[in-house]
Parts: sequence; structure tokens; C-alpha cells
Amino acid sequence: MVGSETATGCVVESYGRRVLVSRPGAPDVRCKLRRRSLDVVAGDLVRIAVAAGDDEWSVLERMPRRNVLRRSDSRGRAESLAANLDQVAVVVAPIPSCDPFIVDRYVAGARQAGVDVLLVVNKADLPLPAGDLDFVGPLQAAGLPALHVSASTGAGLDQLVHRLTQRRSLFAGQSGVGKSSLLNALAGEALRATGALSAGSGEGRHTTVSSAILQTPWGEIADSPGVRDYAPPVVPLREVQHGYAEIEALAAGCRFLDCLHLREPHCAVRSAVDAGAVDARRYESYRRLLNLNRQLGERRGWGP
Ligand code: GDP
Ligand code: ZN
Repeated sequence: MVGSETATGCVVESYGRRVLVSRPGAPDVRCKLRRRSLDVVAGDLVRIAVAAGDDEWSVLERMPRRNVLRRSDSRGRAESLAANLDQVAVVVAPIPSCDPFIVDRYVAGARQAGVDVLLVVNKADLPLPAGDLDFVGPLQAAGLPALHVSASTGAGLDQLVHRLTQRRSLFAGQSGVGKSSLLNALAGEALRATGALSAGSGEGRHTTVSSAILQTPWGEIADSPGVRDYAPPVVPLREVQHGYAEIEALAAGCRFLDCLHLREPHCAVRSAVDAGAVDARRYESYRRLLNLNRQLGERRGWGP
């Protein structure tokens, strides 16, 4: 373009075809996406341009991504939620009781994207009704770090800040586990200053925001309403096991290279489940995700 100015920056908010781009040492600019096919979400690095005399910037291209967290919509189509993440912090709590199968889906989606997962067990101040957090142990055994914290008393928040420092983290978790309370306790002032993240269910925020990144003094928080009702993107059936570290680690011992660990003979995963070495609930979770993946894949027209 003749007489145009170009720049690179990071997308800090995305609203469908429009994005807000932050540039080092210059004010944020609103940009439109040039091409419909451009898949750009919060966290993406982009090259932007404005024609001389014009005040409308547009996104020319997206730079290569380190990773992108995606979800599957109800028709099995993949939707990008946030890009270039360092970790997904999955928040759980004893009350309201968490559905461990939903927790597994967040973990599986993050693993599919190649993003580290941190388990944040909130409301450590509450007495633990027996059984409610039983699913945490097997996740830790599968290699997930877990932090026990309380947004109410502040217990464990130092360690949490330490884990979040100089990283870009996306908070996921069921409604009511205390995500907003945690973010308020950690970054209340920054949150109030920008209004980027709202308390509770996301009401009160601009309804069309599809993802946002909030700068805090210690790190960045990515937020997307798309993490509610989360289902990982559809992948070939054989790849569903990437979401389950302890299952994937055993797959090399199965007789068949394409073993799905269902009813195939000489399956190392099933043997480990029978022997109690792999948690039965996690294995059941893997089977459910395999089924969900199959159904969504069929809706999308991939066939069985
Ligand atoms: P979100 O839906 O995940 O954002 O959850 P909220 O942050 O809105 O919290 C849901 C409820 O749990 C609120 O009533 C909070 O006051 C309460 N809550 C959040 N963190 C804690 C905690 O550490 N301990 C206790 N006892 N309650 C908490
Ligand atoms: Zn197998």
C-alpha cells in the first residue's frame, strides 16, 4: 500500500470481525479483519496497516502461533478461543460439586493444544465433604500440578501468583467455583480499571466479546466465554488419547498400533485399568470423550 503505515501487535480483545490490538509504546487500536477467512483471537500476534489519511486500521495477516486453544461447537466445528497461551488454569472447588468429566475435557482440550495445565483447587477454607474432590488425586498422578487456594482467606494465593507470573494463563472452570473471586483477589484493580472481565457469569460485559487478554502487574489473563460448556475440538479417534497422559503413555504396549483401548485384544490400557494402575473413572472419561468425538465428527460429516 502506498502511503500506508504498518505495525505489529497483539490482539487483546476480539469481537467477531473486529479486534483491539495492543502495540508496544503506542495506544491500542481497533482494527477490522481484511479477510473473512482470517482466524484471529485474543493472544494472536498480527500485522496491521492503516492507509495515509485514513483512521481505520485493518489486520493484514496473523503471525504463526505457538498454540491455540480450540473448542468444538455443537455441530462439531472447531472454534478458536485464545492463542499463544502458556497455561490453562482449571479451577475446581468442593462446592458447588464439580463434574470431573468436565474437568477432564478442559484438561484434554489444553493437552490437544499443547498447553500446560494447572489445577487450582479453590475454597480450601471450606470443610471437605468426603468424596467431592476424589478426582484430583488421579489427575495429579497423571502429571498435573495442583495448587490448593482460597480466594476468601487468601491462602495459597502467593503460590498461585508465582505460577502465573510472566505467563499468559486462561482460567477455565464450571460456574461457581470462584474464578471471578480469584481474579478479583489477584488483580482486582487491574480488572476494575479495564472492565475486561466481569464478575460471575459474564453478564454485564459486552456480549459480543469473544475473547480478551488482561494485563496484570505479574502476568496476563486470557478470558473467553467459549470455555463454558467446553468440548475439545474434533480430532481423529486415534488422537483422543492425547488428552489423557496416563493412557497415552501406555498405548505403546498395546498389540495394535491403532488400538482405541476399547475391546481390542492385548490392550495395555485395559490391562492397567483392570489392575487398578489407571483410574477407572479417567478411563471411563476417555471412553466418553471418544464417543463425543465420534458423534461430533459425524455431525461434521467426517463419517465414523
Ligand atoms: P465463578 O462463577 O467461577 O466466577 O465463581 P465466583 O467467583 O462468582 O464465586 C462463586 C461463589 O463462591 C461466590 O459466592 C463466592 O463468594 C464464593 N467463593 C469464591 N471463592 C471462595 C473461597 O475461596 N472460599 C469460599 N468459602 N467461597 C468462595
Ligand atoms: Zn489399547
